[in-house]
Amino acid sequence: MSGPLDERDSRWINEHQIGVEVRQGRSTDVLGTAVTRVLPTKGRRTVGPWCFVDLIIPPDADDPDPLEIGPHPHIGLHTVTWLFTGEALHSDSLGTEQVIRPGQLNLMTAGRGIAHAELSSPEGVIGAQMWVAQPEATRHGDPGFEHHGVLPIIERSTWRGRVLLGSYGGVTSPARIDSPLVGIDMHLTPGRSLLELDPTWEYGVVPIDTAVKVAEDIVEPGWIGLVERGPHEVPLEAGHGGARVLLVGGEPLGERIQMWWNFVARSKEEMTEAWRAWQAHDTDRFGPVPTKLARLDAPRPPWLSPD
Ligand code: MN
Repeated sequence: MSGPLDERDSRWINEHQIGVEVRQGRSTDVLGTAVTRVLPTKGRRTVGPWCFVDLIIPPDADDPDPLEIGPHPHIGLHTVTWLFTGEALHSDSLGTEQVIRPGQLNLMTAGRGIAHAELSSPEGVIGAQMWVAQPEATRHGDPGFEHHGVLPIIERSTWRGRVLLGSYGGVTSPARIDSPLVGIDMHLTPGRSLLELDPTWEYGVVPIDTAVKVAEDIVEPGWIGLVERGPHEVPLEAGHGGARVLLVGGEPLGERIQMWWNFVARSKEEMTEAWRAWQAHDTDRFGPVPTKLARLDAPRPPWLSPD
């Protein structure tokens, strides 16, 4: 038997010490494909090194638009592609042509520069497109691409998940990471789960199909529940049908990043240089992409004076 505080009481106290901030995602579109942009969000640019989370969830889930994104460049980031339904062809300036299906991971590393295109089957796709900022140590390095057909599964009594990136509870994804982080596609059983956290990391809980309670706050699908550093665990609560949730987290970046268009950098000068290279068709920096889709023109950086 316990003393004056039983386990339930101490958890109750703990819950009230967990700082959770809830932000709504916003609807936008990426070249005609409807997406919900979860990150960056108002006042919050990163969760660990995660700097961009788009959910490709069409307004009419039975009739998604095909995804057709012509060649465009990236610098300083990894793109993480994870599908729930449908399939898409990734092609890039390394010569890669890779079909991705649900349960598989595409991880592209931009480093100093890469270009790629994405084309879904006509039925469209539902999934997530995410970016991870590369740290100073690797962001000027070589571009790369990895496809992982099988990812490790983590089993807990109240949830199971696929570890897309990083490690959780001793289960480690084979995919490359350049700084401490984790990404998991979780399926919660109905009721309450206690999710263990690294207290030195920050996390984002992104419900996919139905609302989830994160500590004391309801987080709707396409929103993000931000869990700040500090707690060793956070309670998640799913309704009758359970819930699918993306968990992203990591060690805070510790570097101030700048993001514009498809670039992650540390200064406007770096982004201007990448922009000029793309607009000048500089194939040393951004090689040709094996695709029939038309190349995307970059908008003019707003900090430059008009032509
Ligand atoms: Mn891209």
